Amino acid sequence: MTSPRPLTGQTALITGASRGIGRAVALALAEAGAEVVVNYSSSADAAEEVVQAITSNGGSAYAIKANVAEEDAVDQLIKTVLERSSRLDILINNAGITRDGLLMRMKTEDWQAVVNLNLTGVFLCTRAVARTMLKQKSGRIINITSVVGLMGNAGQANYAAAKAGVVGLTKSTAKEVASRGITVNAVAPGFITTDMTKELDSEPILAAIPLGSFGTPEQVAGAVRFLVADPAAAYITGQVLQVDGGMLMG
Ligand code: NAP
Repeated sequence: MTSPRPLTGQTALITGASRGIGRAVALALAEAGAEVVVNYSSSADAAEEVVQAITSNGGSAYAIKANVAEEDAVDQLIKTVLERSSRLDILINNAGITRDGLLMRMKTEDWQAVVNLNLTGVFLCTRAVARTMLKQKSGRIINITSVVGLMGNAGQANYAAAKAGVVGLTKSTAKEVASRGITVNAVAPGFITTDMTKELDSEPILAAIPLGSFGTPEQVAGAVRFLVADPAAAYITGQVLQVDGGMLMG
C-alpha cells in the first residue's frame, strides 16, 4: 500500500496556484505531505487563502508573488524558494492565460503575451530549477498543457501554439534530465470549470465531450498527484496525460 503522505520532506512549487487548477494542485500536493509554494501574479488575497487552507489543515505552505513570464522574476522566485526551503523537488508549470481571437485579427501583443507566459514561462522556470534537481539527482516536473495544443482550436492560434510548444519542451527536457532521476511529463486538460472557461458557451463544447461534462480542477490535480507522488509513476517520463472526458482520443 502506498503511503498517504508520500511527499513528506519535499518542496513543491506550483506556478499560478492562487486560483483554478493550480489551487487544486497545491491543495492535493500539500495533502500528500509536500511543503507547497503558492506562486501568483496579482491575486494576493486568493493566494493567501490557499496558504491558509493548507496550514489550517496541518500542512505547510507559503505564497510568493512573481510574474513567471519574466526572466528576472523567475530567477528571484527560485532563489527565494531555495533560501527558504533549501530544496526544490517538484515544479508544476501551471500559470497560463488566454487572449482569444481569430488569426486574421489577432494583435501581435496578444500573440506575444500568451506565448511569453504559457511557453517561455515554462522554459524559464524549468531552466531555473534544473540545476538544483540535477544536483539532487531527483525531481518531478509537470507542465500543464491543453488538448487545444494537440488538436488546435479556432480563435486560439496563440494558445494552441504555446501549448503545442509545451509538449515539445516537455519531451526534450525529459530526454535531457532522465539520466539524473528526474521525470518531466505534461498533463493536458480538456475543458475544466475555472475562471478561464466561465465565459464560454458550454452547449457546443459539451456535445464534443463523451463523458458529457466539464472536468473539475480536482480531477486534473489527481492526475498531477499521481505523476509526482505515486511510486508507480517513477518510470513514466516525456508523456502527455489527457484529462479531457474523452474529448480527444487516439
Ligand atoms: P485560471 O483559473 O485563470 O488561473 C490562472 C492562474 O495563473 C492564477 O492563479 C493566476 O494568478 C496565474 N497567473 C496568471 N498570470 C500569471 C503570471 N504572469 N505569473 C504567475 N502566475 C500567473 O486558469 P486555470 O483554468 O486554472 O488554468 C491553469 C492552467 O491550466 C493554464 O496553464 C491553462 O492554460 C491550463 N488549462 C486550463 C483549462 C481549463 O479548461 N480551465 C484547459 C486546459 C488547460 P493571479 O490570479 O495572481 O493572476
